[in-house]
Amino acid sequence: MSKYWKEIVIGAVISGIVFLAFIGVNVVPFLTLVVFVAAFFLVAKPKGGAIAATVERKAKLRTPSYLTFDDIGGQDRAKNELKEALDFLIRHDEIKKFGIRPLKGILLEGPPGTGKTLMAKAAAHYTNSVFVSASGSEFVEMYVGVGASRVRDLFKDAKTRAQKENKESAIVFIDEIDVIGGKRDGGQHREYDQTLNQLLTEMDGIHTTETPRILIMAATNRKEMLDSALLRPGRFDRQIQVDLPDKKGRLHILTIHAKNKPLAMNVNLAKVAEESYNFSGAQLESLMNEAAVYAMRESSEVIEHRHLSAAVDKVLMGERSDRESTKQERERVAMHELGHAIMAEAVKPGSVSQVALSPRGQALGYVRHNPQDDQYLYTKQELEGRIMVALGGAVAEEMFYGGRSTGSRNDFEQVLNLVKTMMDSGLTNLGIVDREMVTQEELMKENNRIIKQLTEHTRDILERNRSVFHQSLAILVKEEVLSGNQFRSLLSLIKQKTTA
Ligand code: ATP
Repeated sequence: MSKYWKEIVIGAVISGIVFLAFIGVNVVPFLTLVVFVAAFFLVAKPKGGAIAATVERKAKLRTPSYLTFDDIGGQDRAKNELKEALDFLIRHDEIKKFGIRPLKGILLEGPPGTGKTLMAKAAAHYTNSVFVSASGSEFVEMYVGVGASRVRDLFKDAKTRAQKENKESAIVFIDEIDVIGGKRDGGQHREYDQTLNQLLTEMDGIHTTETPRILIMAATNRKEMLDSALLRPGRFDRQIQVDLPDKKGRLHILTIHAKNKPLAMNVNLAKVAEESYNFSGAQLESLMNEAAVYAMRESSEVIEHRHLSAAVDKVLMGERSDRESTKQERERVAMHELGHAIMAEAVKPGSVSQVALSPRGQALGYVRHNPQDDQYLYTKQELEGRIMVALGGAVAEEMFYGGRSTGSRNDFEQVLNLVKTMMDSGLTNLGIVDREMVTQEELMKENNRIIKQLTEHTRDILERNRSVFHQSLAILVKEEVLSGNQFRSLLSLIKQKTTA
């Protein structure tokens, strides 16, 4: 009812004026007044920014200001470790009785977007503490002393807020702690040293008896960069690894972010979790969001599986771009991608899901692989297989155009990383070595030997499939996509012909 109040008022005013005119009253002054009032409301009506602000305010009122561990998908081990550590803050009386020193700092370490900030917020709710946060980069100033005074203010703010809100504890969260907590090797800016010293002083000043009790949580992607003073017992003595989610974790995160979205009945989020191998929580959130955008753009009532698949590609490689390329360039890209695809089928039959010739992000074409099971261990043979798939593009260009192009830059980066992994895992002719034990020259020699050998092997396989390139090229240039099944039937058809 209340949402119709405007209509009721307008209706009442109009009928009042008509009634007065009917009984012979001069309605001109009333009409003038109504026009003025209407004009006032029109002018004062909130515009873009103000509307956005109102919407945001309403959204804030609707969404709870706290976040619980149930709102964090996957990360079961990290959540349990964290809860165990937080119990120290909750069971403070027992801790005092046993003379245990208070837990002062918890360091969360892991790749970007895995939910470290979410964990710190959930920790504040779990322990009924106030939550105060800052990012390492906020302390960085050109002027000496500013960073240190900001650290002091942060702790002061935590204490006053806890007192004001009648809470017994406060969690101070510092994101990107490596910015201020990097190793003090004398060469760094003096300002950073002072900021770090102040943080250490504040940590040392935390006692069991103090109220409000303060717990510092920090997050970093680069723990190896941190000064050892921060990591010693009594400082950040609990370190929790927050990893990229596994398949089960990805499904959990997708389910959390699908809650407010209309999914089609036949959407299988487990399949999407398989397709989004190696995605972080933030990427999964973005995937669900992009899928919803695709569905809305198509004026679809619900989000279908194809929207989710397109969103996986978008998050992996960026939005489809409408870059126009020449015919020669398109053909070259097609040959390059076919090189990758043929090698992928040779190394792992059935692994290609799609070969596409549409520009996305920085890539002019791409091969989409079928979802695979999460894998954490690789044999030498598997690593060599992956190197050959990456080399396939460049070798194909050499075969058909007599040389390579800049299109192989990312492939080579991948190849070099894989060779490095092989070396560090003792899977090369160098044996089990530390990088310090061998010279640059020896490393280079082994690196070149591996790449040369695998390039030759790749060339052999691709040469045997020359006719697949020609047959697939025509379809790819015309249709822009070649499905995995289409590609595999071409491969087997040609194999049958050559063996007949
Ligand atoms: P950074 O290291 O870049 O600061 P972070 O690890 O702190 O990243 P968050 O800021 O916690 O990452 O996560 C960013 C967003 O990603 C969250 O707001 C949330 O939408 C989503 N997200 C990340 N991890 C998870 C998760 N485990 N469960 C649910 N959502 C997640």
